[in-house]
Amino acid sequence: MATITRKRPAVRYRAAAKDDPPRPPVRQMTVIAQDPSVRRTGRILMAKVALPAEDLIPGPMGYRVQIVDYDATRRRFHGAHQLPATYDEEPRHWRKGDPRLIRDFRFHAQNVYALVMKTLARFEFALGRRLGWSFGNHQIKIAPHGMFDANAFYSPVQEGLVFGYFKGLSGGPVFTGLSHDVVVHETTHALLDALRERYLVPSNADQAAFHEGFADVIALLSVFALPEIVQHLLQPAGGKG
Ligand SMILES: [Zn+2]
Repeated sequence: MATITRKRPAVRYRAAAKDDPPRPPVRQMTVIAQDPSVRRTGRILMAKVALPAEDLIPGPMGYRVQIVDYDATRRRFHGAHQLPATYDEEPRHWRKGDPRLIRDFRFHAQNVYALVMKTLARFEFALGRRLGWSFGNHQIKIAPHGMFDANAFYSPVQEGLVFGYFKGLSGGPVFTGLSHDVVVHETTHALLDALRERYLVPSNADQAAFHEGFADVIALLSVFALPEIVQHLLQPAGGKG
């Protein structure tokens, strides 16, 4: 692996005080719209997603999601990342889709945090109620660079999602945690497991296929929920639209 972002920014977290102005119910975050290979005029196509607002401590860690940037293959901890406190504080190159963010582990942490939270929020909105995780903990742990492998998985035993990375055909690293489809797919496994615990115990060959098919459908449709993707498809860069 080449450059790794290991800088640890100063911790600026403080608990909300009584006289603080009320926080808006949602906040916006920049994510990669589909994956780093989908580009527009040389820049990665980015999207803005709206999430339930919450205070995050370095990790980042919130009420429902905790990023644990530990690489089990290399036995290396990449540190607790502190995300920008607001959308306006995000580095400009994140929003512009500068290809440098492929190696920016702090951005990777934001990308997985935002997509997992967005998927959870979508399910809760559709169901009209809160959803727990199947393992009885209120936080799911996410390893954005958890293993050197071209794979990603959900593990109820590890109470989390593990995203692998591998060497791409061009020789550069490929991070599965930067793929919208992969992150939403794995999150859906966790949510479906929370809704139907026994579905992970195959009683016939179709049961595992249902888990995979359902996770794929949610991943595919959630990509098309992004206006940036729809606009990109309807108006290709350089095309007449
Ligand atoms: Zn799957």
